[in-house]
Amino acid sequence: MSKNYVVGFPRIGEKRELKKVLELFWAGKTTFTEVEKVSSALKEKHWKYQKDAGIDFISSNDFSLYDNVLDTAVMLGAVPKRFNGLKSEELYFAMARGNKDAVAMEMTKWFNTNYHYIVPELSLEDTYRLNALKLLNEYKEAKALGITTKINLIGPITFLGLSKRVDRGDTYELFGKILPLYEALLSEIKNLDESITVQIDEPIFVKGVEPKVLSLIKPCYDALCAVSDNINIIVTTYFEHSNEATKVLVHTPIWGVGLDFLHGSKNVESLAIINSSGKKLIAGVVDGRNIWKNDISQTVTLLDELENSMKKENIIVSSSCSLLHTPFTLKYEEKMDSEIKTWLSYAVEKLNEISLVSKVFFGDTLFEQDTESLLENKNANELRRNSTIIHNKEVQKRIENFSKLERDGKYEERIKIQKELLGYEDLATTTIGSFPQTPEVRRARSEYKKGAISKENYESEMKTYIDECISFQEECGLEILVHGEPERNDMVEYFGEQLDGYGFSQNGWVQSYGSRCVKPPFIYGDISRPKPMTVEWMTYAQSKTDKIMKGMLTGPVTILNWSFVRDDMPRGDVSKQIAIALSDEIEDLQKAGIRMIQVDEAAFKEGYPLREENITTYEKWAVRDFKISVSTAYKETQIHTHMCYSEFNDIIQTIEAMDADVISIETARSGNELLKIFKEVGYKQEVGPGVYDIHSPRIPTVEEMVKQMKLLLEVLPKEQLWINPDCGLKTRKWNEVKPSLTNMVKAVKEVRATLK
Ligand code: GLN
Ligand code: ZN
Repeated sequence: MSKNYVVGFPRIGEKRELKKVLELFWAGKTTFTEVEKVSSALKEKHWKYQKDAGIDFISSNDFSLYDNVLDTAVMLGAVPKRFNGLKSEELYFAMARGNKDAVAMEMTKWFNTNYHYIVPELSLEDTYRLNALKLLNEYKEAKALGITTKINLIGPITFLGLSKRVDRGDTYELFGKILPLYEALLSEIKNLDESITVQIDEPIFVKGVEPKVLSLIKPCYDALCAVSDNINIIVTTYFEHSNEATKVLVHTPIWGVGLDFLHGSKNVESLAIINSSGKKLIAGVVDGRNIWKNDISQTVTLLDELENSMKKENIIVSSSCSLLHTPFTLKYEEKMDSEIKTWLSYAVEKLNEISLVSKVFFGDTLFEQDTESLLENKNANELRRNSTIIHNKEVQKRIENFSKLERDGKYEERIKIQKELLGYEDLATTTIGSFPQTPEVRRARSEYKKGAISKENYESEMKTYIDECISFQEECGLEILVHGEPERNDMVEYFGEQLDGYGFSQNGWVQSYGSRCVKPPFIYGDISRPKPMTVEWMTYAQSKTDKIMKGMLTGPVTILNWSFVRDDMPRGDVSKQIAIALSDEIEDLQKAGIRMIQVDEAAFKEGYPLREENITTYEKWAVRDFKISVSTAYKETQIHTHMCYSEFNDIIQTIEAMDADVISIETARSGNELLKIFKEVGYKQEVGPGVYDIHSPRIPTVEEMVKQMKLLLEVLPKEQLWINPDCGLKTRKWNEVKPSLTNMVKAVKEVRATLK
């Protein structure tokens, strides 16, 4: 009997082999044959890992050279016209990355993860045609190695839900065009083997789908199940509960449903109907979104609870989602604290957990090695529960007694004092914080980290950079200066490295998009700040100019959202600890003479819950913690924040409640359209909408920025507007940044002259 299951496996390779070969190929330094060779070797390795761990349901078609939504678009022949004439890998990578004639397709976040998928472009007039070769071949490839896989597919409803219409209108209108292709696909799949399992991912169902979408489920799965008797279809969702959809799915002839019981604990409400439908339950109980070692006995208890409402023989033990969202293996973590390491589990280790959980739950014979692993698991979890490096009494006491929840003074009072003291003009000019990260800066940082250069040496290199950065800003006439952030490799890691309770991995890479991986730091314990984190750099920078030097911090919610977070405490409680640490930093910055401080909340919006019903709770603690972090700011100190997006319509009230004196945002690409909501709700605080797009190497002209500023002035008065680029400049080159900012300042001067 098949008892356990893995939704999907990461593909980039435990040494990022796929990344490396892809990048060589894109640079013209290797052939596509080599890419295919590396890919095959990776697939084989990943299948074997799963087989060796005793996994029954192993996936094929979870591999991808770039992204599996893109693979689905290609499989369905949904290729935008601008790529006409291209074929095979040339077409595929052009869609993903663009080429000299055609821009790449848009990319966006996969639900609330940090994985990005390519957004398919659909239109009513296009004709679609099935090409199932990749999928069929992958099945055969595994079969040839003696592994019978289940086939992973992105479901038609999710595919439509994630696509966009280039001819305007609703993507679901194309349901009638897409469904027959899926039927045709299953007709090909049915010939692969005597009996085949197909996992159809429909994560869109967790978003609380509208009636219109719900109404597609039954016709869709009735039709797909009718294709052939030898195919078992499992519909899988993750990241939240999908109770509305499950209610419909149980009335279709599918074989099983896959549900996430960790991030969607409400899924238990569906157990009774699944049970009476006689379908299999693929129970997601081992976390695919985190790096913590599973607590086997706790997980078995959870399964026992499920068993109260489900026949045991219909339960299959699974990961909560694809393991794509976790790093590969702990094998290469050589530098990590050995105690902390025993608390962790990456994808390969999670395989063993799934297998062990299923053995214990089903009462299988345990071998000596299993008993040892169980004991080890129990001990590690016990140590973690009691470890003094996790549980810091002082931090906990401080949290308990913490009462300063917001800063003194109402906005109206503060801004009056600030304007007088700081004396900046209307349409004040500034930047978002970082300046170009040159190869020299990167080299100095990494050599210092390796111990190859001394602290003095490193600091003097950074100071030289800061000096140059300041001279340039003064020369070009910017009014509010920044130090340029040369000492920061990453806006979250930089703070994580200085906070107690934070850990770092050597090889904890997780795919973000295409060949790009990120290595999020992880919060394992109570957070505290042993000493100031930015004060020395800021004091140095301020000493080099008479102008205002803006301090630069990353906000609590962003620090949280871009880290792996401990799972033994609610996220909001962790974020509060970070906020308190930041409030101490602000206090110290002020004491050192810094009068303006920006607290970046780049990831505030992406932390939003998938389901409407959870939004209020998130907003409550997210706003609370932003306010706590700036609660130490004097009335005189101007607090800025920056957010990396432009659509504020749904969250404007929340943004207002954060009560920053100035917010800079990313509306450069949308004229003044997206700014209008600020006016509509009577937003009082100051706003820097971003007058040019830093995501492109293009240098904006004075004229176009003048035009942009005039558009902004149609919406908000000059007293309320700031002028700045739309994000940090670290990814740009000096020869782009210098003329761009010079033009920006010129443009402001022109506009100001017309306002006198
Ligand atoms: N201060 C940061 C920078 O300029 C902000 C970046 C961001 O919000 N993504 O790089
Ligand atoms: Zn930004």
